[in-house]
Amino acid sequence: AVHGGYRMALERRFVGGRVPLGLKRKGLRIVVTGGAGFVGSHLVDRLIERGDSVIVVDNFFTGQKENVMHHLGNPNFELIRHDVVEPLLLEVDQIYHLACPASPVHYKFNPTNVVGTLNMLGLAKRVGARFLLTSTSEVYGDPLQHPQVETYWGKLADFTWMVEQNMVSYIAYVSFVCLPIAGVRSCYDEGKRTAETLTMDYHRGAQLEVVRIARIFNTYGPRMCIDDGRVVSNFVAQALRKEPLTVYGDGKQTRSFQYVSDLVEGLIKLMEGENVGPFNLGNPGEFTMLELAKVVQDTIDLNAKIEFRPNTADDPHKRKPDITRAKELLGWEPKVSLRDGLPLMVTDFRKRIFGDQADNNP
Ligand code: NAD
Ligand code: UDP
Ligand code: UDP
Repeated sequence: AVHGGYRMALERRFVGGRVPLGLKRKGLRIVVTGGAGFVGSHLVDRLIERGDSVIVVDNFFTGQKENVMHHLGNPNFELIRHDVVEPLLLEVDQIYHLACPASPVHYKFNPTNVVGTLNMLGLAKRVGARFLLTSTSEVYGDPLQHPQVETYWGKLADFTWMVEQNMVSYIAYVSFVCLPIAGVRSCYDEGKRTAETLTMDYHRGAQLEVVRIARIFNTYGPRMCIDDGRVVSNFVAQALRKEPLTVYGDGKQTRSFQYVSDLVEGLIKLMEGENVGPFNLGNPGEFTMLELAKVVQDTIDLNAKIEFRPNTADDPHKRKPDITRAKELLGWEPKVSLRDGLPLMVTDFRKRIFGDQADNNP
């Protein structure tokens, strides 16, 4: 049974700024798994800033100590090296579960999404903590619906429906439905779909009343891994190093890019609000990879060259969030446009790539 710990914590700590007159809001005890990573470390900054106690749990698979170093020595901050695939005992009020190898180059090595999520749900159940899962727009696969609304079931469901309607043969069914499950990206998108299912199962079956699900669309900003192969980090690093920007395929595929501070605000609003989700958290501004390359050229180097490369397997053709639900129920929408956000990331990348020489590389 639920311990009612979260509700008690609410009463003790006055979440959401509703602090009775004359009383100071007490901080919450919050665990951020994957808190040494790109998104996690920005989230930790915000939580510490508002006075909460934060425990970061990270195995440094893709994250780095440098991302949270500035909090070491703060009594409200703890850093634990731990793989969430192993059980973990902590006493906390909230769990932001971000731990996950998030880039295609890394995510095929690790069962974090399923086993790690199960453990963190078990922890949430034991202590009665509120649990937020960071899922992904990849659950929509190579979407047939555009933009993607939370009620859309993703590519697999669409093909199943087509089979039911006798619109495609059994062979087509096998190639469209079964192959993606064994595809190179599947460990990530099927893993996250399973993580969402587990989260909802705990919500219903294990009486975990307080789960939250965010479906995050492509996010960029300072502290992104420089060489993990994502398109924004690749283009920015390439332009700074005077290398050609590598556009995969014909460059007409689209993505929607969200600045990290917008995402962090959305995650906190979701955690503090009353709605389970899933909620799309992304910037609806949609760009082809060629348009993105142009923004990078305009921001860093007008003479940067473009080099076309073959695209990777299973690459989704387009992606753009419908954020109506988050706007209406969370009162959230992104504020930072790609043209405003990119320069903030460039400053950080320039420092990390050129170190002390950064000032000589405008
Ligand atoms: P990231 O790789 O920078 O952060 C992930 C963190 O999790 C890293 O610090 C890594 O070391 C840690 N980690 C990985 N496996 C672990 C394990 N087994 N145990 C403990 N720690 C582990 O990635 P990010 O971009 O910050 O992504 C954070 C979350 O947001 C992920 O769940 C990701 O799937 C989700 N997400 C991100 C994006 C994006 O564009 N950045 C888009 C969709 C979803
Ligand atoms: N778990 C954990 N920390 C806790 C409680 C549970 O890591 O504080 C793990 C536990 O080891 C198990 C998983 O979470 O692998 C699911 O726990 P739950 O109690 O829901 O399932 P059960 O152990 O009853 O199968
Ligand atoms: N991409 C690209 N050049 C690169 C890296 C990626 O054109 O150097 C393309 C990739 O094929 C995909 C898009 O950019 O169509 C986004 O890729 P990313 O890995 O950043 O995110 P995801 O595919 O997970 O949305």
